[in-house]
Amino acid sequence: MRKDCPCGIFSSSSIITDFNQRTIHYKYIMSLLPILTFPNPVLRQKAKKVAVFDEALETLISDMIETMYDAPGVGLAAPQIGKSVQLIVVNAARDPDAQESMVMINPEITEREGEQIDEEGCLSVFDLTASVKRSKKVTVRYQDIKGGKQEMTVEDRFAVVLQHEIDHLNGILFIDHLSSLKRTLYKKKVKKMLAAQK
Ligand code: ZN
Repeated sequence: MRKDCPCGIFSSSSIITDFNQRTIHYKYIMSLLPILTFPNPVLRQKAKKVAVFDEALETLISDMIETMYDAPGVGLAAPQIGKSVQLIVVNAARDPDAQESMVMINPEITEREGEQIDEEGCLSVFDLTASVKRSKKVTVRYQDIKGGKQEMTVEDRFAVVLQHEIDHLNGILFIDHLSSLKRTLYKKKVKKMLAAQK
C-alpha cells in the first residue's frame, strides 16, 4: 500500500509497487497525460480550488506524477494537462536523479523573502529557457492529498520551482516575467512555428 507522509511527500517507489500489483490496486494504474503548450487558453485561466479529496483526485495526482517524470520535468501543474484546478506536483529530491514526489493542493504563498535569479524552462513553453527573478525564500500554505492543512518554508531552487508551479494556477507563465521584448520575440516564434505546421 502507498504510505502517505503527513507533509504530502510520498515516495514514487511505493506507487511503482502499486503499479506492479495492479490486480489488487487497480486504481493506481497510471497513464501519461498530454501536456498543453502555449498559447493554449487553459494555461491562462485562474484554476479552481479543489474541494473534494477522493479517489479521482488521487488517480489524477498519480497520473500527473508519472507524466512529470516521463517528460521529464521537476514540476507539473494541473492546468498544464488541461485540468484547471489548484493542484501541483513537484520532485522535491535534492539529487537530480532521485525522485521524491510532493503534492500541493490549493497552494498559496503567504510569505516571501529576498531575491534570486535562476534559469527557467517550462514543459508548456516549447524551446525556451530564460533567467527569471523570483523570491529567494517562500512560505507556502497548502492542503495534502487527504485535505489536511500544511505549511512549508523553502528556499533557493525549490522555492523557484514552487513559485513557477503556483504561477500556473493563476494563469501566469514564466515568459510573463521576461521583458516585453523577449516575450514578443517568443510569441512571434511560436506563431511562425504554428503557421508552418498548418
Ligand atoms: Zn511551467
